[in-house]
Amino acid sequence: MATPITAAAFVQALKKEGVRVEEVRDWRNHNRNQQGSWGPVHGIMIHHTATEGADRTVDLVYDGRKGLPGPLAHGCITKDGTVHLTGHGRANHAGSGDDDVLRAVIAERRLPAPNERNTDGNVCFYGFECENRGDGKDPWPEEQITAIVRAAAALCRHHGWGARSVIGHLEWTNQKVDPKGFTMDKLRERIAARLG
Ligand SMILES: [Zn+2]
Repeated sequence: MATPITAAAFVQALKKEGVRVEEVRDWRNHNRNQQGSWGPVHGIMIHHTATEGADRTVDLVYDGRKGLPGPLAHGCITKDGTVHLTGHGRANHAGSGDDDVLRAVIAERRLPAPNERNTDGNVCFYGFECENRGDGKDPWPEEQITAIVRAAAALCRHHGWGARSVIGHLEWTNQKVDPKGFTMDKLRERIAARLG
């Protein structure tokens, strides 16, 4: 269990991890806190955007779309490896998922396959939306993967979490396939190596 990081500490933690940070518009006050609770936080969720083009992807993650208001994540990681901060507080990214998965994340145990949608993940997960078409063919540049590893490691370090606190959306619910194009196990290995 952990209190969400402050906006100032988030920026600092990312920069300390060597991440290039862009602060988007009024991200520090941009959230869905009026619609539900935020925190305590238990983990970090990785997504792909299923979009193309950095600028419009960042705008989409900030603004949301019809029927799904933004922010759609706390950060949008573009192909060039920049972390664009898009929200602070509750964000519309995780949706409903499996409480057994949440328990495993909290205990940092191996994850069970998700088969229920009984828990609101927007309360307790940080979210990073990563620019990718999500078709399994669109490449994930090394700069982008490095930025994902570092951004996740920054939050893990802040909270004293290990790499098992980082999950993919597809590990939260069987309704989702993201992120597609790399495995979460491989990503967690890299995060664990970075955390040392
Ligand atoms: Zn997702």
